[in-house]
Amino acid sequence: MSAARPRLTVMSFVTELSERMPQRVHAPGTPEYEAGAHVFAGQGTPDAVVRPTSATEVAEAVRSAVAADVPLTVRSGGHGSPPAAAGGVMIDLSALSSIEVAGDGLVHVGAGAHWGDVAATLAPHGLGVTSGDTRDVGVGGLTLGGGIGWLVRTHGLTIDILRRVEFVTAAGEVLEVDAESHPDLFWAVRGGGGNFGVATRFTYQAAHVEGLVGGRVMFDQSDARAVLGAWRDVMRDGPDELNSTLMVMPPLMPEMPAGPQLVVALQGSEEELRHLLRPLLSLPSVTHVSLAPVGYGDLLEDAPPGEPPFELVGGNGFVPDLSDAALDAFAATLDHEIHTMLLLRALGGAFSRVPADATAVAQRDGQALVAVNRLVPADAAPEAVAAAHEGIDAAMAFTNGRYSNFTPEFGADIVTEIFPPETLERLRAVKREVDPRDVFRASHHITP
Ligand SMILES: Cc1cc2nc3c(=O)[nH]c(=O)nc-3n(C[C@H](O)[C@H](O)[C@H](O)COP(=O)(O)OP(=O)(O)OC[C@H]3O[C@@H](n4cnc5c(N)ncnc54)[C@H](O)[C@@H]3O)c2cc1C
Repeated sequence: MSAARPRLTVMSFVTELSERMPQRVHAPGTPEYEAGAHVFAGQGTPDAVVRPTSATEVAEAVRSAVAADVPLTVRSGGHGSPPAAAGGVMIDLSALSSIEVAGDGLVHVGAGAHWGDVAATLAPHGLGVTSGDTRDVGVGGLTLGGGIGWLVRTHGLTIDILRRVEFVTAAGEVLEVDAESHPDLFWAVRGGGGNFGVATRFTYQAAHVEGLVGGRVMFDQSDARAVLGAWRDVMRDGPDELNSTLMVMPPLMPEMPAGPQLVVALQGSEEELRHLLRPLLSLPSVTHVSLAPVGYGDLLEDAPPGEPPFELVGGNGFVPDLSDAALDAFAATLDHEIHTMLLLRALGGAFSRVPADATAVAQRDGQALVAVNRLVPADAAPEAVAAAHEGIDAAMAFTNGRYSNFTPEFGADIVTEIFPPETLERLRAVKREVDPRDVFRASHHITP
């Protein structure tokens, strides 16, 4: 399928599709269009937004677009795509947002649902799905990219508890994809992103998430390196039920003090949590401790509102060995004239017990995920952006591949930094099989 089509061709396709799918095709100026075309990264300008209400309707839209050779983009929560360009149509899955609890802890979730709604719906059942940290992130994009959140050491990635996917192919077929029916495709959609078709519904094995205790520990800026070392030791020795992210924040706003802060959760008691955190709590730089029983849904946060006044320049990656040298390099990134944010998410546990070739997220030896981001003013000169890259490579030398969901750079080249060569080759083989015409060009585009 070509990258962009002449406006007239697309417009006549949109008119025809509106007749075939009444009330599902939305033009610029309508609330449905504005909501669908607006993503976290900004306002898109597709020629129309199609909002199907079933997998069959998604299939109809895909078949029609493929037959007319009109480019498609697919959107679930809109937190991982660049704004869609003119010269094509967007399939907005927001109407496919049902959340149903079935027997044996299985949960069916529409791709257009948001993780906050999933957590709220499952809470009365005492259940949760290992997913992300943010309420308004979409189920579709996060799942297809992996899914790292509050239960990652306890239950693994979102894709590790994924059991089945309702899936629309480039040929417009609706499939039920699981490990038995379509093993290669099921492997590819677990981490390979939206390159293979449209996922319309996911079935997850939820887990019991009662009895969580969690909160925050803040530190002053006097010795970030000591905090990194103590955190590494605590997480290395801690049980799978202990999950945490350590952030080192620059001075951004008065309500968010600069310095390291730990966000932590344990399925266990507060006493046990304090005991596990002792090496951190005994550091002289501790300024604030708040730990208390918490519901899984309360651990999720809202995405920051509006567009940030800065561009994030940096990198991320899985860290196979949290050595002293790695921690030195991560701490060194903070010593820069441009405000820098360091984030370390503890991995290991259930995440690391999944074989490297079981899903398309292969870096299962990861002890942590690191992300370093320099906050460059949105109107900064190119030299300032170039300067922001200083020191990032030295830190990323301790990583063995990027996490796709944390990688805001798009295009075909970036996939070589995300997937090891053998994983990428296997993904391309599946792509050639299910989407040889390259209809689905996800944010991190895998070519056939
Ligand atoms: C504020 C914020 C917080 C975040 N926190 C976390 C976190 O804690 N953990 C984590 O793992 N990630 C996190 N992320 C990253 C997030 O997982 C990715 O950005 C993800 O792609 C978002 O999914 P979405 O459905 O909202 O995005 P979308 O923009 O809708 O989709 C992203 C990509 O997936 C494709 N796609 C989406 N849905 C489908 C579908 N159903 N079928 C086929 N292709 C599809 C799209 O075409 C696009 O290429 C966060 C992102 C933001 C902005």
